[in-house]
Amino acid sequence: MDADLQAHIAFYLTGKRHSPNLLAIDGLKLQPALFAGYRDLTRLRYDFPLVLVKEGPAAVEPLSGLIDAILDKVARGDDGERIRKHVLRLEQEIRTLVAKGTGGTFSTLWDAAAPALAKDNKLMAESLARARANLKVDGEVIDCDASLPYHLLGHAWAITQTQRARKFGDDINRLVLKLSDIIKSDFVNSDAGKSAENLRASFGNGPMDSFDFAAMSRILVKASPKKKPTKSRQKRVQNLLAVLQSQRFFPTSSATAEAPYSFAFDSCSDALKAYRERLPKATELTRAIAMAELEVRGEYSEVKHDALFESFGQNGLDAGELALLPDYLVRINATSLSGAEQSKLNEILAIDLPIKVVVQTDDVIEESPVGHLAFALRSRQLASMAMGINDVFVLQSPAASLYQLRTEIQRGLDYTGPALFSIFSGATKTSGGLPPYLIGAAALEARVFPAFTFDPSAGRDWASRFCLATNPQAEEDWPLREFAYEDEKNQAVSQQLPFTLIDFVACDTRYSTHFSLVPRTHWSETLIPVETALAQPGRGSLDSVPCLTMVDGEDRLQKVIVDEKLIREARRCRSMWNSLQELGGIHNSHAEKLLASERLLWEEKLAAASASASPAAAEPAAGVAAPVAAAEAAPVEAIEQEAERSPDEAYIETARCSTCNECVQFNNKMFAYDGNQQAYIADVNAGTYAQLVEAAENCQVSIIHPGKPRNPNEPGLEELMKRAELFA
Ligand code: SF4
Repeated sequence: MDADLQAHIAFYLTGKRHSPNLLAIDGLKLQPALFAGYRDLTRLRYDFPLVLVKEGPAAVEPLSGLIDAILDKVARGDDGERIRKHVLRLEQEIRTLVAKGTGGTFSTLWDAAAPALAKDNKLMAESLARARANLKVDGEVIDCDASLPYHLLGHAWAITQTQRARKFGDDINRLVLKLSDIIKSDFVNSDAGKSAENLRASFGNGPMDSFDFAAMSRILVKASPKKKPTKSRQKRVQNLLAVLQSQRFFPTSSATAEAPYSFAFDSCSDALKAYRERLPKATELTRAIAMAELEVRGEYSEVKHDALFESFGQNGLDAGELALLPDYLVRINATSLSGAEQSKLNEILAIDLPIKVVVQTDDVIEESPVGHLAFALRSRQLASMAMGINDVFVLQSPAASLYQLRTEIQRGLDYTGPALFSIFSGATKTSGGLPPYLIGAAALEARVFPAFTFDPSAGRDWASRFCLATNPQAEEDWPLREFAYEDEKNQAVSQQLPFTLIDFVACDTRYSTHFSLVPRTHWSETLIPVETALAQPGRGSLDSVPCLTMVDGEDRLQKVIVDEKLIREARRCRSMWNSLQELGGIHNSHAEKLLASERLLWEEKLAAASASASPAAAEPAAGVAAPVAAAEAAPVEAIEQEAERSPDEAYIETARCSTCNECVQFNNKMFAYDGNQQAYIADVNAGTYAQLVEAAENCQVSIIHPGKPRNPNEPGLEELMKRAELFA
């Protein structure tokens, strides 16, 4: 074995450099090769920056989309091409201003950027002036940065609440008007209403001095309907009016009304507290609306409805009643989500409150206590827990994909129950100055932070509820992208490169020790692509070393070898992605197993039919069908068994296991597969409680229940038990 290969293998196995021909990558400003085309995002037309539209059919539009709409109107005729060029130049200027941190609306940024471009350039000035006259859609311009999830979700939520307030206002005004009419008409029909004084007053000033109001009053009183409004009804209608007119859930035009409540919070605890404090008022208001509707239709019956409304809201408000009122919004950073705050979030999601929670994550790599690199661990736990509750709308996505997911965001905001929006901002402080958009997009490509939605209102099964469609090439382990470059002989070379977890980690300066640069003079065929190493089982034959293709600050191709730890982590990341794919119906092992058995059955039937028509030929077919039936029965049996379990006992909901291999790979003595290739706890004493809790946290479908610790002397039990509560 030559000295270079020996040194490379030593680095691969130990992460230590034993040769002067292996160089540290710190300070070399290397980037994954596929980033080479994205060095300056301001020169690209893409989804960002976004405009948070004040008024318009869409809550948010990309700057490039609004510019295109303006160009559609003005870039016509002989000078169309010139106008297009000038306006696109202005768009680039606005994009640069925003990337440098300049804030403002579309119109103010236009006005800030245009003068410098138009100076000494009459044609440019003319093009921009014509285009500016067509700027009709305006709003705050925001880039993909650390504040994007807060502002974008806040804006979309506020628009949703404004629409709800409009509808509420129309309904309340209608009810108030009709209830007021009832009061007026009750008075007009009363003896007091028909008194001579009231009749005279209602006719106003005029030549009525000779008119006998007393006689008219006598006639009207005599002709009054027998059924007079009861005092109880008058009181009820007056009370309803008072409740409707004094409500603080939506803004009103009344000058005497108290200020409306605020529904946007920075903590789950505060939102929950406000919800509880306001619940009596919410119940009173929804009750008043329900009673008023009956009253104005003349359908309120004291005998039938009094008792019913007496107990209104005693079991809480239902989804339809809550949907009349504003939803709460909580925006928090994942770093503040521990202890009490985490348990309040769990409570919000578990008890079906109309609260939308945005959890922002800025860093998705962390070292776990047992030495793994944990990728998006907390976000995965959070999303798994929320989906496990079954009635929570869940959307997970990097901020870079939020525009693509705008329809899904709206669905989550319109959803009648709780919603969780788990967003990775991409604003990681250790990404060597790469823009958050690129880091977020890289996390999506590398399957580190996949995008998905779980919408309980879409249907009853996973196929209807769970969607992975926003992920690039979702059917692949890693997306493949075209990478084109010129070699040292100036020949064009093009190849397909996957973007893996290793590319993503290579962007983070904290993990540079896992990479070593191999100088060009030491390149050889023993440097194999990372994807080849990932496809091999275990360490492979150790006659080659995985290497990543990167580019330096001058766009020169570089080769960087990777240590084994990262290869292992990339396999774990792929395995977690494979589990998500299964949930999303991609390469679903149950479906594939069923398909294989059906295919076998069909082939056997075909063979039997062609061999002979004897009745015995049917037997193998029945024999094949039996295991399928048994497999279908197994989950029911397993669920029944699980229902009887003690909460102290550690167990796995085996029937729901998606065979992702995560727990079995983690500790194959503690976890094993049964005959259906689904995991169960083989020996609970074959590992620590800490391992059990970590396995539960890493399980994509949250089906591992750690129970209570068995060894009271294990260190850190208090914290472990808190973490285990999520999976009780
Ligand atoms: S139980 Fe184990 S194998 Fe099954 S889904 Fe969970 S982590 Fe994967």
